[in-house]
Amino acid sequence: PLILGIETSCDETGVGLVRGTTLLANAVASSVDEHVRFGGVVPEVASRAHLQAIVPTLERALTEAEVTLDDVDAIAVTAGPGLAGALMVGVSAAKSLALALDKPLYGVNHLVGHVAAEQLENGPLTEPVVALLVSGGHTEILHVTEIATAAEMLGQTLDDAAGEAFDKVARLIGLKYPGGPHIQRAAAEGDPAAIRFPRGLTSQRDMSRHRYDFSFSGLKTAVARWVETAEREGRTVPVPDVAAAFQEAVADVLTHKAVLACTERGVRTMVLAGGVAANARIRDLTRERCAAAGIELRQPRLSLCTDNGAMIAALGAAVVEHGLPPSSLDFATDSSLPVTQVAV
Ligand code: ATP
Ligand code: MG
Ligand code: FE
Repeated sequence: PLILGIETSCDETGVGLVRGTTLLANAVASSVDEHVRFGGVVPEVASRAHLQAIVPTLERALTEAEVTLDDVDAIAVTAGPGLAGALMVGVSAAKSLALALDKPLYGVNHLVGHVAAEQLENGPLTEPVVALLVSGGHTEILHVTEIATAAEMLGQTLDDAAGEAFDKVARLIGLKYPGGPHIQRAAAEGDPAAIRFPRGLTSQRDMSRHRYDFSFSGLKTAVARWVETAEREGRTVPVPDVAAAFQEAVADVLTHKAVLACTERGVRTMVLAGGVAANARIRDLTRERCAAAGIELRQPRLSLCTDNGAMIAALGAAVVEHGLPPSSLDFATDSSLPVTQVAV
């Protein structure tokens, strides 16, 4: 079946088309430029941008896939988590389409969608897998036994998400929003060993209580202190070194705990997903450590890591294939939809 996927949980308006695990189209319009001067996503601005972009993005996706709306067999849309007003634009559009075309509608989980996106890269998942989900709002280690129905959370961040840490640290060292790509670029010129920043929740004591959990607020504070001290002493802040050392600390703790989860659970496959999974150092270190531990690593291309509609279509396809009933047309959006709820 041909599945249309619609994503509007944050600042990307995404419309994708997939058949099974085959990617046919992935059209994305981002309002990121409108948020840069505010240093973060402004919800009202994002909602308004979705409203303007949703129909043109849908048209682009249909053209790219060389199909018409009549060809679509089912519609999937992000029901949550995300910004309430932003989610409502996508869900309203999806409900209207479902009603007008008389097609089944599936409200699905954005976070599980990030994991499902990988199937568009390397084909059907062979569960169980451990997913390291690293994005702007979430940092979690998931144990996925069936992508359409069952995602269990093994651990999560106790404070900032990894992407949030990238964004906040970027601001501290004078780099623009969104911080991830800017830090990566600066880090390429720096020495990751120049400064040793803390790895949160990795002490022996923390590992017994928070084995698969993360904490990035201490790291962020450590960077702030380091920069303050340098400035007080009249030294120029070596932005590339700070960026590289920070990025290394994040990559180290993320990959260490995800590999541990795989080996301790006896899981042979890891999926790296979410916007922060676009980070080159995180991708490289994950690959290295998975190889050393005999774990198969699956990671989607960059355009499938950051928010997009194809990932939602991919999850919709899995849900349809699993024979689950469509959502009723009166479902609400849920800003904090738990990752354990794959579909609404
Ligand atoms: P969530 O999925 O939790 O709802 P979100 O959808 O806003 O949050 P994504 O779009 O998946 O998050 O990811 C955006 C985040 O990814 C931002 O914090 C951004 O800085 C980060 N990011 C993007 N590219 C990179 C990169 N190359 N390195 C590090 N971080 C990156
Ligand atoms: Mg975004
Ligand atoms: Fe996301």
